[in-house]
Amino acid sequence: MSKMPASNEGKQQRHSGARDSANTESRDSGSGAGAPSRNDTSRFEQDQFLTILSREEALARFEAALFPRQLPSERWLLADALGRALAEDVVAPIDVPPFDRSNVDGFAVRSADLARAGEAAPVQLALNGETISCGTAPTLPALPGTATAIATGGPVPRGADAIVMVEHTQPAGHGTIEVRRAASPGQFVSYAGSDIARGEALLRAGTMIGSREIGMLAACGIADVRVVRRPRVAILSTGDELVQPGEKLRPAAIYDTNGAIVTAAIAENGGDASFLGAIADNEAMLEAVMRKALADSDMLVLSGGTSKGAGDVSHRIIARLGEPGIIAHGVALKPGKPLCLAVCDGKPVVILPGFPTSAMFTFHDMIVPALRRMAGLPPRSDAKVAAKVPVRIASELGRTEFVMVSLVEGADGLIAYPGGKGSGAITSFAQADGFLKIEALADQLPAGSEAEVTLFTPHVRVPDLVIVGSHCTGLDLVTAPLAHAGLVVRSIAVGSLGGLAAAKRGECDLAPIHLFDDKTETYNTPYLADGLELVPGWRRMQGIVFRKDDTRFAGLSAEQAVRAALADPACIMVNRNQGAGTRILIDRLLAGSRPDGYWNQPRSHNAVAAAVAQHRADWGMTIAPVADASGLGFIPHAEEHYDFALVTARKQRPAVRAFLDALASNEGRAALTKAGFRPA
Ligand code: AMP
Ligand code: MG
Repeated sequence: MSKMPASNEGKQQRHSGARDSANTESRDSGSGAGAPSRNDTSRFEQDQFLTILSREEALARFEAALFPRQLPSERWLLADALGRALAEDVVAPIDVPPFDRSNVDGFAVRSADLARAGEAAPVQLALNGETISCGTAPTLPALPGTATAIATGGPVPRGADAIVMVEHTQPAGHGTIEVRRAASPGQFVSYAGSDIARGEALLRAGTMIGSREIGMLAACGIADVRVVRRPRVAILSTGDELVQPGEKLRPAAIYDTNGAIVTAAIAENGGDASFLGAIADNEAMLEAVMRKALADSDMLVLSGGTSKGAGDVSHRIIARLGEPGIIAHGVALKPGKPLCLAVCDGKPVVILPGFPTSAMFTFHDMIVPALRRMAGLPPRSDAKVAAKVPVRIASELGRTEFVMVSLVEGADGLIAYPGGKGSGAITSFAQADGFLKIEALADQLPAGSEAEVTLFTPHVRVPDLVIVGSHCTGLDLVTAPLAHAGLVVRSIAVGSLGGLAAAKRGECDLAPIHLFDDKTETYNTPYLADGLELVPGWRRMQGIVFRKDDTRFAGLSAEQAVRAALADPACIMVNRNQGAGTRILIDRLLAGSRPDGYWNQPRSHNAVAAAVAQHRADWGMTIAPVADASGLGFIPHAEEHYDFALVTARKQRPAVRAFLDALASNEGRAALTKAGFRPA
């Protein structure tokens, strides 16, 4: 079986599919790297994804190298067979029911005796001397002119061909009954084999065994079945920076997310997953672990280290693990370009991209089909819905792109809001209901397009309350009672202006905004359009953050603090992104100065606090609750008004009323106050 270790040399060249030689993007950071220029090969001397295969080409080659491939089958008791795939057809060994059975409580009769029975023509039948209860075999035949008492589930006695319901009879004394209606032959009888006939194909090979199938097998008396052995899949995360959940995060480290995602996704798709932990980027160590893992399993799934940087070693190891080796390294997917597919001595070996969202999309799109086929399971059937895309989604030409979306109910049908696109943020999955796919040949999805959304769960739960606009941690505090009352609240962070646009289109109930109007020197009201009304929310104190032990800022006002910072050339600031309300305040304080750190422009309050707490900057501006949560010093500067543009037409909806009640309630106000906000 085992072959000489393959050399990597020439492997890439062998795959002469669609060539995309000028991809300068080394990873799927998704941070908006533009489409690579198509004729710039000179910048590309290292073997960085020399051959980018299309999604379809990569899938076809992977499957061709992998199949046909049969995992051995094994016999399992019914209960343990749940979720596995039948390895062979199951033929019914008996009839179900095994005998002609009464469906009601009543009397087994000969229908011919009752042919002329009616309201005016009662027929008397003599009762036979037994009662057939469930589980009792009859001993006496039903002769002409007789009836036998029978319970639901009892076997019909010889001679009888119909059952009369007890409700349709009268006791007539001396061991007789009177019947006043005719009975058709077969009435209330379930015939032997009417459910399942002996010799009939009960279940076909490849059926996934669920409770329904287990029920059918049990009804036929089958106690165990032959199923395809679950593919044993070893999972490895790679990276010096990875720490397992539950352990303490050291500086510059992150939690291993892919290990958990991939392990769960393998189990969901019929694999027997065993997670082997995160391995540092050390070629010798990783190779030893990979060899052992591959020897012990049917499939190996790694994540990270698939770019061709110096520290990225997994793909070099794969090239030594077995024939034919790497099938595709670089696939025209977004996210997910660095995906590496290999087959080593008949076993699939896959390196998923490091970014969790990329890992998840590529796993589901490219690996799940092969895994299910190995497990003997049918292809996954994901639920899909049609939805309209409210905004234009740009897409890179030449790559199949996956975009996560949140679904809300629009005026005429579902609306799919793109979100978390390529952010690499696993949490963007939390707000997403599914994803849509933009084909490689499209460079955009125009606003208003109809798109097919693949759902993450089999059903859409359209939210009861939709909040689209600027995000604030205070929102969670106000919506908590709604969520506890069973209302589904969806909040989509698109910034104040995006929220206003959604509100004008009637796609949300409320748009949280904090927009300062220079002319009127007021917040929010000047931005309202027809059909919208302002609901006052709360005030957020903006101020200067600094580390508490930094004596440069102690006891100063915001203006003084900025002056002190500007006076010290060693002092580094952290700014905010253009367009943020906070940015306007910072620029006013700086009055044209551009100190060191000015161009560091993160997009969130929390990023500012993190930069200062981690000594990457010495000061910045954020809101008080965020400064508090990070244990930073805070100098109050200006209060910002965080209010809600309410779509008047939706004001009477129960969830909207519940939100307004929660906002005005003592509990809601207390929770906001406790978190450092000032309710309006
Ligand atoms: P790499 O391809 O190893 O350079 O990884 C690309 C990015 O994904 C880096 O930011 C890694 O820190 C991150 N990453 C890699 N593996 C994981 C993992 N198992 N969990 C979370 N993030 C990861
Ligand atoms: Mg890495």
